[in-house]
Amino acid sequence: MKALFDKDVIGLNIILIGPPGAGKGTQASLIANKYDIPFVSSGDLFRDHRKLGTELGLLAEKYMNSGQLVPDQVTINMVMDWLAKNNGNNSGFLLDGFPRTVDQATALEKALGDKNSVGPSIYINVDQDQLIIRLTGRRVCMDCQLSFHIHSNPPIHEGKCDKCSATLTQREDDNFDAVRARLDAYKHNTEPLVDYYFKKNVLIEINGNKTIDQVSLDIIESLDRLNVN
Ligand code: ADP
Ligand code: ADP
Ligand code: ZN
Repeated sequence: MKALFDKDVIGLNIILIGPPGAGKGTQASLIANKYDIPFVSSGDLFRDHRKLGTELGLLAEKYMNSGQLVPDQVTINMVMDWLAKNNGNNSGFLLDGFPRTVDQATALEKALGDKNSVGPSIYINVDQDQLIIRLTGRRVCMDCQLSFHIHSNPPIHEGKCDKCSATLTQREDDNFDAVRARLDAYKHNTEPLVDYYFKKNVLIEINGNKTIDQVSLDIIESLDRLNVN
């Protein structure tokens, strides 16, 4: 039998789900580079708009700063626009942080159509107390958005990005109040997707409490296993 998720057959359409701080962004580039597929973070797309001061950026800012989800239709349009530009030949992609609601998930399926289904969905599961430690100690590059952690993933030179040497900063929504709101939003809106994708038989659950390297290895091992004939 041909592999279920053989990228050459149906495209490797990877979705990363998990609570804020689970390590989605950290793993996204590693996985996408390994399988040579384009990737995007919906949070990064919003932050780009915010930086440029676009109408969408100004609208999203209000929600982001208080830790709430940006309304579905706005988010769906933005991500579908990225997909149209990056998945023209259906050769696979990785989405970090989208979908985050069931309505976003169904919009994605509709956009892909029957022949190009969603999956696998990688769910990075991390204990709540760990999440708070990760989010409050996170530092991100102002230019390339790469993320570091003051303890678990420090940059080589304090306060500077390893990749582009730009200054590291703390995200405005990585303060305690916004973190609480984001964890709540996750529980109410996004956690139901775990069950949603489980029922569709495309869920891969990963224990994200391990080290960054171990989590990467576990994800890659699970994806490679799908390609066994
Ligand atoms: P997300 O995109 O899911 O919000 P990030 O990838 O930005 O999460 O990671 C959140 C913070 O936790 C960052 O500071 C990152 O360096 C750190 N981090 C990511 N994965 C791990 C891990 N497995 N162990 C410890 N710290 C991690
Ligand atoms: P996290 O580290 O919490 O995973 P992200 O960088 O993915 O953060 O997202 C930051 C903020 O951008 C969210 O709190 C939310 O306001 C907005 N956002 C990102 N992705 C989505 C989405 N798929 N739906 C709605 N809002 C989103
Ligand atoms: Zn950088």
